[in-house]
Amino acid sequence: MPTPQAHALPSTRKDIVIVGAGPSGLSLACALANSGLEVALVDQQAEAEIARPAMDGRDIAMTHLSQALLQRMRVWQRFAPAHIHPLHEATVQNGNSVYALHFERGDKDDAPLGYLVANHRIREALYAQANTLPNVTCYFESSVRAVDSNTQEATVTLANGMQIHAALVVAADSRFSATRRMMGIGARMRDYGRVMIVCNMAHTGDHRHTAQECFRYGRTCAILPLGSGESSIVITVPASRASALAALPPERFAQEVERMLDHRLGRMTLISERFSYPLVGAYANRLIGRRFALIGDAAVGMHPVTAHGYNLALRSVDTLARQITLAVKASRDIGSPWVLHPYEIRHQLTARPLYDATNLIVRVYTDDKPIAKLARSAALRIGNSLPPFKHWVTHGLTHTPSQTARQ
Ligand SMILES: Cc1cc2nc3c(=O)[nH]c(=O)nc-3n(C[C@H](O)[C@H](O)[C@H](O)COP(=O)(O)OP(=O)(O)OC[C@H]3O[C@@H](n4cnc5c(N)ncnc54)[C@H](O)[C@@H]3O)c2cc1C
Repeated sequence: MPTPQAHALPSTRKDIVIVGAGPSGLSLACALANSGLEVALVDQQAEAEIARPAMDGRDIAMTHLSQALLQRMRVWQRFAPAHIHPLHEATVQNGNSVYALHFERGDKDDAPLGYLVANHRIREALYAQANTLPNVTCYFESSVRAVDSNTQEATVTLANGMQIHAALVVAADSRFSATRRMMGIGARMRDYGRVMIVCNMAHTGDHRHTAQECFRYGRTCAILPLGSGESSIVITVPASRASALAALPPERFAQEVERMLDHRLGRMTLISERFSYPLVGAYANRLIGRRFALIGDAAVGMHPVTAHGYNLALRSVDTLARQITLAVKASRDIGSPWVLHPYEIRHQLTARPLYDATNLIVRVYTDDKPIAKLARSAALRIGNSLPPFKHWVTHGLTHTPSQTARQ
């Protein structure tokens, strides 16, 4: 009698599998353009949703380091100049006071503090670039059913049964990463109990290219300056109040925003949909596993108030891509601890202080108890009178290490 043959699953072999073709996964694929490695990029969405993403209301504030990294990936060059909005100054206000902590570039360079680009335009440019790379193969409408690894290789099994074998699997599948869980790595999740409503508005007043964060009592309002007479408006309220605010008729909503902003932008008109984001933070218990690494929000998903999420994701991409490139040059295994341990150490050192500082800001500036109100106000005044503090913040936004800027 013939021996029954196991039914062979369709399978393929690559060097790296990246799960998630969001901003982080696409950035890593672009960063590995000249690595000589074969990359598989897996996403549950259809190609059309990734190639031509719909507007999602997010305008991403980017540092000079992020600009340099995207330039090196040939992605920044794909943004139309009209879609890059410079941020010349930033202010932070507390409660009902008009007193503001103020940031501007202190050096002679007249370059801005940072830049704003719409999230859907970033995703579109990243995919357009990744799509030109012969070493990148995309698997769309493919969610991951299982991930496994041993000392020899890692294997990703897609929902349709196809298996991709590789030396390394990288999870970039959001702060709720299923791949992270499949690899047995937990995360400390933090539900802030608040919802961020974002939209674009036209206004008669001048935004003077100044980002403004106003920590009011019971809500936070932010202005992110776009083109002339237009800004991205970001309102954070307790979850219980969000649906009612998002459902107001456009004119009533505009009047409410004018009032929240003390009419500083004059007459306002809603010019986009309103998008609501329930705020949940995530910090993975480990950033690596056997032949496995986490990047982007799957590693550390920040509260958006300090605008660090994608900037930090690009740092994770840069750090991991450097380690992988070093391993290729040294003919080492790209999934080995020799690559992954330094990545974990370096990214923890970058991410942990930012994550903790952001959570501290959220905690202090959403506490409306009388003593906290005093502390909130004092913190801004102390910050304003501490030049080293202001220098440290602006340096973080504008500094580009020469090594990173190298092409
Ligand atoms: C309102 C708001 C404002 C923000 N503003 C800023 C800012 O000013 N500056 C800044 O730096 N950051 C900002 N951020 C953060 C930034 O948007 C995120 O850090 C960034 O989008 C993270 O990208 P990501 O690719 O890691 O994750 P995501 O964008 O969540 O992408 C994950 C991808 O994985 C795919 N996926 C998920 N599960 C699976 C699966 N099982 N199988 C296959 N594919 C899967 C998804 O389809 C998606 O394509 C903001 C965020 C919000 C919500």
